[in-house]
Amino acid sequence: MKFCSNCGASVTHKIPPGDSLPRYVCDACNTIHYQNPKIVVGCIPEWEDRILLCRRAIEPRYGMWTVPAGFIENGETTLQGAARETLEEANARVDVGPLYALYNIPHLSQVYILFRARLLDSDFSAGAETLETRLFREEEVPWDEIAFATVRNTLKHFYDDRSQGEFRLHVGTIERAGRQPGT
Ligand SMILES: [Zn+2]
Repeated sequence: MKFCSNCGASVTHKIPPGDSLPRYVCDACNTIHYQNPKIVVGCIPEWEDRILLCRRAIEPRYGMWTVPAGFIENGETTLQGAARETLEEANARVDVGPLYALYNIPHLSQVYILFRARLLDSDFSAGAETLETRLFREEEVPWDEIAFATVRNTLKHFYDDRSQGEFRLHVGTIERAGRQPGT
């Protein structure tokens, strides 16, 4: 950040009085511009024994597969965000819930919140940010072409849980260097 979004003056990166971390502080109006992690919401849309994946038409990870997910918007709930992302990326309608995975990604300042979801019909197609969308059986999942560690981990848990007949909440942290599967 170079300029204050409140008044347009320059900002200085410094620790405000009483704070412990440096913030962007406006040199003119003294507004403190706090920056906090972004929340990504998404879901695993299920249709019978298959799940819906989307092939990304945008960077990062152009051409790789993922579940429908994206940044939550102001004024919506996490469930609404997951349903909206599924509609935008796959033109698919879902009944969202229950909560399935929560991943901290501290080095990207992101938190992933992923739900299980039920496709309401089998009418879907690629949205603007998607090259292709299709249903996969477990043995068809393109594991080497999954876009993100969060999604890969979540899908592995999904199939493990499904084979054991019990889905439970998974919480984990993705570190910079590699892939921590979480629990
Ligand atoms: Zn200002």
